[in-house]
Amino acid sequence: MTIDILTLFPEMFEALKTSLLGKAAEKDALKINLHNIRDFSENKHKKCDDYPFGGGPGMLMMPEPIFACMESIEGFAKALKIYMSPKGKTLNMDMVQDLAKHDHIIILCGHYEGVDERVIENLIDLEISIGDYVLTGGEIPAMVVVDSVARFLPNVLHCDGSALDESFMDGTLEYPQYTRPSEFRGMKVPEVLLSGNHAEIAKWRKEQSLEITKKRRPDLLKK
Ligand code: SAM
Repeated sequence: MTIDILTLFPEMFEALKTSLLGKAAEKDALKINLHNIRDFSENKHKKCDDYPFGGGPGMLMMPEPIFACMESIEGFAKALKIYMSPKGKTLNMDMVQDLAKHDHIIILCGHYEGVDERVIENLIDLEISIGDYVLTGGEIPAMVVVDSVARFLPNVLHCDGSALDESFMDGTLEYPQYTRPSEFRGMKVPEVLLSGNHAEIAKWRKEQSLEITKKRRPDLLKK
């Protein structure tokens, strides 16, 4: 998969080079291209924002550099073009899995008060929000999308079903997990997990999943 990211702050994406995403890039499972929108400004001061027509607080990202930046990306017409926005559809596991099926995604990160509406109307296929709160920019939301999608790409996680056995995959939250030692400061691991009885372990985990989901996220069970 190729993900092109349009941003005014490419340096923020350094964080993606570590851990799993760095490995995904090394294995060629995921190619991330960063594009600095400022490089496409024709203004001599490389200005990319201006006051909103009609007044109001803050600045808006201007359309010209965003259009030029987007149009410079090879294959942009066929790619799925996303704008990170608090007004978008809230990201969930179904959306993440759908996104992972695409070969080429382009993500536009907004800043200030957002972008000129003509950008959204003419360039964008999908607006995605990462939750009902407002951040200063689309960079962290874009990283959330990249990280969550990368986990579903072939060869990124170990082939041990890690991504399949997680919270939300079957509409429930994950069961509690324990590791060594089996007793720590008098706190014991549930006996069943040490029994070696795989059927009993699976049954216990299913029950725990349902219980925790019922307590914390009954809305998931209704779905
Ligand atoms: N004026 C906008 C509004 O009220 O909807 C908020 C703009 S926000 C300060 C600046 C940028 O951060 C947005 O253009 C968007 O790219 C990003 N952003 C902020 N919160 C977000 C969220 N919850 N999900 C996705 N992107 C977000």
